[in-house]
Amino acid sequence: MYPAGAGGWIEVICGVMFSGKSEELIRRVRRALIARKRVQVFKSHLDERYTGLYHVSSHDGRTVEAVPVDSPEQIARALLPDTQVVAIDEAQFMPSGIVRLATDLAAGGRRVILAGADTDFRGEPFGPMPQLLAVAEQVDKLHAICVKCGNPASRNQRLIEGVPARWDSPTIMVGGQESYEARCRACHTVPRRDEDQVELTV
Ligand code: ADP
Ligand code: ZN
Repeated sequence: MYPAGAGGWIEVICGVMFSGKSEELIRRVRRALIARKRVQVFKSHLDERYTGLYHVSSHDGRTVEAVPVDSPEQIARALLPDTQVVAIDEAQFMPSGIVRLATDLAAGGRRVILAGADTDFRGEPFGPMPQLLAVAEQVDKLHAICVKCGNPASRNQRLIEGVPARWDSPTIMVGGQESYEARCRACHTVPRRDEDQVELTV
């Protein structure tokens, strides 16, 4: 919980897809607007699915829209001098320079809120998220519901034509022919390449 008068500060909201990271980011942005803070929201241009969610409006009629970006430099250029709260969604897609940017913004007295998937479809750390988690003052890890068994889901299951994607499938797929399910560790499946499976069984 961001304490009143805390000054510069980094908070990270992480977890699997469908765990409610965007909902939580928007909730925090809305509350910052109610507190009459000046807020700017950014999100990776790689994710355009939930654009409609990002017309955040406060009770006093102020609205905020997320600006699509693909680099920390774009965020730095778009930043207004009097902005007090910087929110960044889909942070896992950002280059590693996002860590330095978040650190500099916090050092300059801003509250920085980042949301992103902390693991990729393999269940391994995703992009700059491990570093962001380390430098943050506050980390919240959210869970979805496993679509197979109903337990808390901590993994992104990638499916290509309905079949679990192999381990050597690219971390970021362009074109969107894949789909994702939230699953728990036990229900998550990532087949290795055939030769890897042979090596593992020798
Ligand atoms: P994220 O940003 O983490 O991907 P969102 O905030 O976009 O999550 O979406 C969260 C919403 O997704 C939930 O409130 C719920 O309505 C919906 N949802 C769909 N599938 C699931 C699931 N398997 N577990 C939990 N919520 C789900
Ligand atoms: Zn499960």
